[in-house]
Amino acid sequence: MKIHEYQAKEVLRKFGVVTPRGIHCTSVEGAVKAAEELGGNFWVVKAQIHAGGRGKGGGVKLAKSLDEVRQHASDILGMQLITHQTGAEGQKVRNLLIEEGADIQHEYYVAALTDRATQKVAVMASSEGGMDIEEVAHNTPEKIIKVFVDPAAGLTDAQATELAKGIGIPDSSLAQAIDTLKKLYTCYMETDASLAEINPLIHEGNGTVKALDAKFNFDSNALYRHPEIVAYRDLDEEDADEIEASKFDLAYISLDGNIGCLVNGAGLAMATMDTIKLFGAEPANFLDVGGGATTEKVTEAFKIMLKNPKVKGILVNIFGGIMKCDTIAAGVVAAAREVNLSVPLVVRMKGTNEDLGKKILAESGLPIISADTMAEAATKIVAAVK
Ligand code: GDP
Ligand code: MG
Repeated sequence: MKIHEYQAKEVLRKFGVVTPRGIHCTSVEGAVKAAEELGGNFWVVKAQIHAGGRGKGGGVKLAKSLDEVRQHASDILGMQLITHQTGAEGQKVRNLLIEEGADIQHEYYVAALTDRATQKVAVMASSEGGMDIEEVAHNTPEKIIKVFVDPAAGLTDAQATELAKGIGIPDSSLAQAIDTLKKLYTCYMETDASLAEINPLIHEGNGTVKALDAKFNFDSNALYRHPEIVAYRDLDEEDADEIEASKFDLAYISLDGNIGCLVNGAGLAMATMDTIKLFGAEPANFLDVGGGATTEKVTEAFKIMLKNPKVKGILVNIFGGIMKCDTIAAGVVAAAREVNLSVPLVVRMKGTNEDLGKKILAESGLPIISADTMAEAATKIVAAVK
């Protein structure tokens, strides 16, 4: 789960990380009032969307007067902000963060994240923070330093010092930078984040270290123990079909291809997507109906897949273990009838009550294409959509 920057900064502040003072608002008037309340003569107007790269897309603007705050707020609110993370259609801006301007001396990058290769938490830092960190990672990876944390010890003083010194934090800011890195790690662990990123982390002319931007990803499987984070959820920022799917306990992720797939089990779902790709087409979604798929769930799954206008065919790939093939077959037939299925449907099922399942499909009178192996199923659906 993702949250907005203003929320991410609230989380960081709870753990003692220093951020600029800021006020969240949703209107132009609110933005001007926020700037007045913050005081000073230099503000930043920041679009709040669940995607990075806002600065380059025109979603972060500096203002030197209240008139400029008003101008930027009215330009940014309601705009369709396009960044390298939003896709071509962009994301509509409904929320703003008005912040006091910072006296940036240097922009650094710091983050805590789960490193799959070492199965540890990695804390990364770079002297080259700011808007081009992706290019830094790509072109000059040596400019990013990493330490791996022993969970029993936590991020040690020695590791935090290695990172802070390694990215060139000046002596006058070193103690606070080390402290900030340790707090970032604690925050990452205690909120069950999978990514906690501050980019840029800055030091100001007076030496103060501040988080100027913040981004979190939280592990959805741990949200049950973080009602305070769930409360930050903003459904406007999420894929409508994925929200619908989650209501029916379906694990659904929309993708860019044209073959919808309905599978039981995440591993089989991934193998199915790989197989579709291997045979030259692209999956339109990941969809795991889980172990307890009822007719109702299968019907909902079909409805959600078919809402996507790109879907030109559906591949159902079921392993009948605890879930019996005849149950799934009955569900598929009922669902195909209810949604008036108009795209080719290939069904492959293996396992418990397989023969009974195939019989139900064959006798349904629906134009369901049956397949025995994964290769056959992929070949047939790819041919059908071409
Ligand atoms: P992102 O592009 O979505 O990552 O948005 P950021 O919040 O990181 O802002 C992008 C850039 O705007 C930062 O890297 C800074 O260079 C600049 N910026 C943000 N806040 C301030 C500020 O208070 N003062 C100044 N001068 N620049 C800022
Ligand atoms: Mg940033």
